Amino acid sequence: MRVAKETVVAIEYTLKDDQGNIIDASGDRGPMEYLHGAQNIIPGLEQGVDGLVAGDTKSVLVPPQLGYGEYSDKLLQLVPINAFGANTPQVGMRFHAETNLGMRVLTIKKIEGEEVTLDGNHELAGKTLHFDIKVVSVRAAELTELSHGHPHQSGGCCGGGGCGSGESSSEGGCCSTGEASQGGCCSAEEGAAAGGCCSTEQPVAQKQGGCGSGGCGCSA
Ligand SMILES: [Zn+2]
Repeated sequence: MRVAKETVVAIEYTLKDDQGNIIDASGDRGPMEYLHGAQNIIPGLEQGVDGLVAGDTKSVLVPPQLGYGEYSDKLLQLVPINAFGANTPQVGMRFHAETNLGMRVLTIKKIEGEEVTLDGNHELAGKTLHFDIKVVSVRAAELTELSHGHPHQSGGCCGGGGCGSGESSSEGGCCSTGEASQGGCCSAEEGAAAGGCCSTEQPVAQKQGGCGSGGCGCSA
């Protein structure tokens, strides 16, 4: 079976930057599984996988506009240091916050006096991504997978924990579907920032939820 819309695909991958540094790899985590054609992963990678069969390997070059977008200064904002209350902000600290663009992962970029600069860009914004991929398996998606927009593996929907990176909560996919907002793994109670489904430790290639291996509380 070839990778096409409405197939569930498992890939192993290594992601490098322009300098050849490894940014992420499926490695010990095992293959990343996603629903093809459902915006589970970044567009450039999805295009690269399209039409392949199990066993195929390929190098896929993803420009920023097909990856995490160009870096935008508009996503920088200044907040007073006292907005952090009792917490002490530190450069590099990341957290989820509601913004005028929805829920975003914000990184503290700079602290000057009483002013803290927050950066809402994805950490890979503006970067060209070099993927080396191997297609592990391709299968037809189940009906419930199609209706949910993500694969169901290892214990039902997202059973194993993990829901793509932070922006998934605002852009669709596992973290923004009904089950999430009603108390799924991305609910406020569980605190994405505490390492729940929206944790930034998830595979970076899973742009929008994906839930290939992970946790969003729907019971199907
Ligand atoms: Zn589901």
